[in-house]
Amino acid sequence: MTDAAVADRVHVRAPGKINLFFEVGDVQDDGYHDVASAYQAVSLYEDMWATPADDFTIRVSGTVDVSGVPADDRNLALRAARMLAQRAGYEGGVHLEIVKHVPVAGGMGGGSADAAAALVACDLLWGTDLGMQELQRLAARLGADVPFALMGGTAIGTGRGDQLSQALAKGRFDWVLLTSEDEGLSTPEVYSHLDRMRADRAPDIAPPRRTPAVEPGVLQALRAGDAAALSVRVRNDLQPAALSLRPALREALELGERSGALAGLVSGSGPTLAFLAEGPEAALELQVTLAAAGYPALHVHGPVAGARAL
Ligand code: ATP
Repeated sequence: MTDAAVADRVHVRAPGKINLFFEVGDVQDDGYHDVASAYQAVSLYEDMWATPADDFTIRVSGTVDVSGVPADDRNLALRAARMLAQRAGYEGGVHLEIVKHVPVAGGMGGGSADAAAALVACDLLWGTDLGMQELQRLAARLGADVPFALMGGTAIGTGRGDQLSQALAKGRFDWVLLTSEDEGLSTPEVYSHLDRMRADRAPDIAPPRRTPAVEPGVLQALRAGDAAALSVRVRNDLQPAALSLRPALREALELGERSGALAGLVSGSGPTLAFLAEGPEAALELQVTLAAAGYPALHVHGPVAGARAL
């Protein structure tokens, strides 16, 4: 294949995610954990503009603190672009312009969304036309959350979270997100903290089951579009570890739960907190209450589509 791009500029949007159920199994020999996750893509997006270039370059800005985001080959989006070029035999490059809205190291899969956006953007820009199945295969090589950022909607992930199947969800679910102004939490650090807590048999830690699985009640509540039923099923095994590493989150979690949220949980490895609301009005009220208490919050909804060109 040559280096002739078929478009001048491509704009792609990719969503952040919430894990509304996250069970973590035992650590495997390769150091990874088997997990069972119910993902929902929510209306907080990363924007990416891709333009043809001779080399591979990236510029990152955003409405969130992007100081922790590398603007070189360590950036997952740039790695995604290079991987796609190699797979397709494309000899040119790309300049990626990312405007981030998903908090960095916030447990909402922002880096994974950027990688998914880069796959979709470069595939269109270069006319490589690999098809969704092949893009999914590349996504899985980039990271456990990248396939879901491509797929979007609501999905169940097993294995490392990357063996995905779409889940039926009726209507929309309203979420209020409390993003942390402090530094993010490192996902590997949260996992190893959980392993230590389990080894020490901390009192609020359940022992891992052999094969993690999403509870059927979660799927029923999603199918029925029943936020109240879902609220008693949400769960995140990483939550005790995230709260132990960042104790200040407890207060915010309790405030949200006291202020009308149906449920509150740490999103992924945190420190973002996600509160499930009964509907749009309840979410707005909760957002106002949290803001008045000094916690700026965002109202989002899910499910929304995965990485797509606009
Ligand atoms: P997850 O929930 O998938 O574990 P996260 O949302 O907690 O991820 P990210 O924002 O995806 O965390 O990024 C985690 C780290 O990855 C960052 O601290 C940063 O060093 C690195 N990184 C690499 N590429 C990116 C990117 N495009 N955007 C953000 N971080 C990136």
